[in-house]
Amino acid sequence: MSAVVDTGTPAAAPVASPGVTRVLLADPRGFCAGVEMAIKALAWLVELVEPPVYCYHEIVHNRAVVEVFERAGVVFVDDIAEVPAGAAVVLSAHGSAPEVVAEATARASVVVNAVCPLVAKVHHEVKVRAGHGYQIVYVGHSGHDEAIGTMAVAPDAVHLVEHPADVAALDEPGVPVALLSQTTLGMGEWADVRAAVLDRFGDVWTPGRGDLCFATTNRQGALRALADRVDAVIVIGSQSSSNTNALERLARECGVARIVRIETADDLPADLTGVVGVTAGASVPEQLVDDVLNVLDPADGVEAVRVTDEDEYFPLPAGLRSRLPADVLAADRHTSASDALARLASRVAATP
Ligand code: SF4
Repeated sequence: MSAVVDTGTPAAAPVASPGVTRVLLADPRGFCAGVEMAIKALAWLVELVEPPVYCYHEIVHNRAVVEVFERAGVVFVDDIAEVPAGAAVVLSAHGSAPEVVAEATARASVVVNAVCPLVAKVHHEVKVRAGHGYQIVYVGHSGHDEAIGTMAVAPDAVHLVEHPADVAALDEPGVPVALLSQTTLGMGEWADVRAAVLDRFGDVWTPGRGDLCFATTNRQGALRALADRVDAVIVIGSQSSSNTNALERLARECGVARIVRIETADDLPADLTGVVGVTAGASVPEQLVDDVLNVLDPADGVEAVRVTDEDEYFPLPAGLRSRLPADVLAADRHTSASDALARLASRVAATP
């Protein structure tokens, strides 16, 4: 039976689903260490320098997060040439092409590269393998910010594939082949393409633990752990979020009867019934999850389904650390991105 996927047709206002008896809440869900770092980096910079601060691409793929920063005066651009000379600019968590970093460095007074270290690791793998003469099969999603930035590290050596069928269309490389990937793929889609690449090219170089990040695999593991106990799954996250899309695909692979994809509680349908699973992509603030739980208000309560603890902390980017006072740097480890967003929002609210 194919799953029903709601595309999130908004209700007029959040409405309760009186038929929901219980919620199984995936854990981990929501903000990962890379997203935490990137949001806090932008928030600290907004407090540090004269406005406006510019940000190249959405800092993370979540509309609610971006809107908090927009209200605080951050200007988001998709072309680094739109950043005025001498301005301060943050580069998004998804990673930027080397020429974007170079152009930002040439025109801005302050450049904070908030690329997630796990994406930066893949950039490094591309650079090293291309330098050693490999042709690189890169599994990723065409047009996604992370894939664009990673492929730009060695455009002549990288070949994007999305599906197993794409592998057959690749030219004979005539040189050693490396297999790398976007960090936020579904484990299933990665495994399928990997099998096709191994089948075609045999001996390929690939990093020992692959490129899928811990946050992506943990969130998928938590969803898998609850999938066979629910009547429906709610997946919270923006349409542009790759790891959220992977959660939706996984729910379908697991045979969940109804999959409801939403960005906020406003998108919830009113006809949910029975036991409902809830998960959220890595760029979703916990506040949006709380809003959903408040609307669902299940008669038999909420049960967390935890598969692991996440306590990773990614330090702020070097370009910012050198500018922050020591007490702020020390506080960063104990400050959550949600706290930083709330502080920014209340500062905006207090501004006449
Ligand atoms: S999802 Fe993974 S790669 Fe992306 S920001 Fe989070 S930790 Fe980094």
